[in-house]
Amino acid sequence: MILESFNLQNKVAIVTGCNTGLGQAIALGLAEAGCKVVGVNRSAPVQTMEKMEAAGYEFLDLRADLIKQDGIADIIKETLQRFNKIDILVNNAGIIRREDAFDFSEENWDDVMNVNTKTAFFMSQAVAKQFIAQKQGGKIINIASMLSFQGGIRVPSYTASKSALMGITKAMANEWAKFSINVNAIAPGYMATNNTTALRADEARNTAILERIPAERWGTPEDIAGPCVFLASEAANYIHGYTIAVDGGWLAR
Ligand code: NAD
Repeated sequence: MILESFNLQNKVAIVTGCNTGLGQAIALGLAEAGCKVVGVNRSAPVQTMEKMEAAGYEFLDLRADLIKQDGIADIIKETLQRFNKIDILVNNAGIIRREDAFDFSEENWDDVMNVNTKTAFFMSQAVAKQFIAQKQGGKIINIASMLSFQGGIRVPSYTASKSALMGITKAMANEWAKFSINVNAIAPGYMATNNTTALRADEARNTAILERIPAERWGTPEDIAGPCVFLASEAANYIHGYTIAVDGGWLAR
């Protein structure tokens, strides 16, 4: 049965930054598809834990500041202690800083590159080594952006970080596909999350954005969950190094 290939029963998925927004919807979507989920957050993901508990899903709550890479070994260790294996990694945690390119500070450059790109790479490296040890392959899904494709304005480190993330998605796929490790990315379009509250509140920007989206609406966190379950599943076994836009048609314009 084709639908069986989408089933994630008893898979173990690590999702970074799942206390809110897209990460929360991804974590809940994976759990609904059958995964045991490990959430990696800076602070307790209270709302996500409540929703997981209410639905009876297994959830391991881990704490790490992903602006640094020194917590990665513990994330792997604690996941294995609880669940004995890892099948899926979603690198979702991300930040954005806005400043004119002329004035852009080194701190705003380094912080964004650290969370969005460097940590995503070294998390992927650590998880891929575990996949190799387990000899069963695995799935890595990076949350990219429209700014993996476009330049953006006043967000140069975000553009650099998400363009780099799409690039290393291909680079890692090229090296690890032969081990049945699928590395892919999802590029969300304009999604209604905390990240975009200010944009949506600005009437002129909101109207301009909506006019350019063929679907004529902002995306919702739930719009990302289905594509993520798909990429995490056997149905996507021959997809390597690809970035799927989930953008209401934004890039098609
Ligand atoms: P959000 O701000 O609600 O979520 C970001 C998540 O990353 C949060 O859970 C946050 O706690 C976590 N995070 C940030 N810094 C961290 C750190 N140092 N350590 C640990 N966790 C950290 O925003 P969102 O819109 O849900 O964003 C999720 C991902 O989607 C990000 O990578 C973002 O760049 C990407 N994205 C969002 C949109 C959008 O329109 N909302 C569009 C394209 C891409």
